Amino acid sequence: MMTLQHYRPTRALINLEAIKENVRQLKKFLQPNVHIVAVVKANAYGHGDIQVTEAAIEAGATMLAVATPDEALHIRDFFPDIEILILGYTPVSFAKVAAEKNITLSVYSSDWITRLPTDVIQPIKVHIKVDSGMGRIGVTSIDELLDLYQSIEKSNCLILDGIFTHFATADEEDDSYFTKQVDKFKKFIDALPTKPRIVHVANTATMLTKDSTLQFDAVRFGISMYGLAPSPYVKNRLPFPIKEAFSLETELVAVKLLHKGESVGYGATFTAEESMYVGTIPIGYADGLIRRLGGQEVLIDGKRVPIIGRICMDQCMIALPTAYNIGEKVTLLGLQNKEEIAIDEWATKLETINYEIPCIITARVPRIYLKK
Ligand SMILES: *Cc1c(COP(=O)(O)O)cnc(C)c1O
Repeated sequence: MMTLQHYRPTRALINLEAIKENVRQLKKFLQPNVHIVAVVKANAYGHGDIQVTEAAIEAGATMLAVATPDEALHIRDFFPDIEILILGYTPVSFAKVAAEKNITLSVYSSDWITRLPTDVIQPIKVHIKVDSGMGRIGVTSIDELLDLYQSIEKSNCLILDGIFTHFATADEEDDSYFTKQVDKFKKFIDALPTKPRIVHVANTATMLTKDSTLQFDAVRFGISMYGLAPSPYVKNRLPFPIKEAFSLETELVAVKLLHKGESVGYGATFTAEESMYVGTIPIGYADGLIRRLGGQEVLIDGKRVPIIGRICMDQCMIALPTAYNIGEKVTLLGLQNKEEIAIDEWATKLETINYEIPCIITARVPRIYLKK
């Protein structure tokens, strides 16, 4: 693993023990012999693919899922044996590498199979993707499914190892659309001449709130492995406690007294109504602290204070209740004394979902791993 020296004090702390505990809790909750597929796409939702993979495997995950061929290759370099499934599209040009590196692909088109290069000799494991209502990728009719099945059987390099689908509304209270998707998927399974080794449908919301029969042979554990609930609805009915793994912190690098009438930042949008202390922290929109987070509170000395003025590319300013020293710790996400700024708080402010928050913290922010 790369050891980089970081001189700027801005960092994301990743609590690998929290991730392990979330996986262990899930393992206890699942039916016996159900595989845990750790979903580590998008650099493990911004937490760091290699370190999260290692923690997840240690805690009981037996497979990995990623979104792209490049993500699969990056992980394969560090983990030669673990099963890796690419959930998304793979170009046929990747087939040979998939075979050599033992990377499992999702397939949903017999045309894709006819376009495979003829010189792939090693077998490639594939999972059929069924579009039961997500409208994204996958076979949409039983005819298409059977056509694809035959193409896989006839192909001299593909091995059918699994079949899966993905739900659009598993995290909502109203389960009418969810039930339609389940029914459709079950019809597809029944239509298959032989059932592949692994049938899987459950994302986090499904495994935590729906019928345990939907665990099938494997569950795809994403967001709650990182300690976040898929939605407010699921958050209120979690079957076990989960622990947030991602926090974000920096330090004061400048402190000044702003006199009444003086302003800070581009556009001079914040003006002191009376004299006050202002601190500068070295984090900005190029780190993922996007400008819409202006006004968001951060923690210093266990207290909440707001970001003031416009967030710059690499820095921003915060209101200070008193003249703290340079080097005083500032927490943007996470716990300080008894105060906490949760990822959900940013998600609410930005009118988005918690999934997006660790993903938007850019690669310039080093991920520092906390182990026991
Ligand atoms: C991202 C993804 C998941 C994981 O979803 P969570 O809600 O994070 O558990 C599962 N399945 C597919 C197909 C995905 O793309």
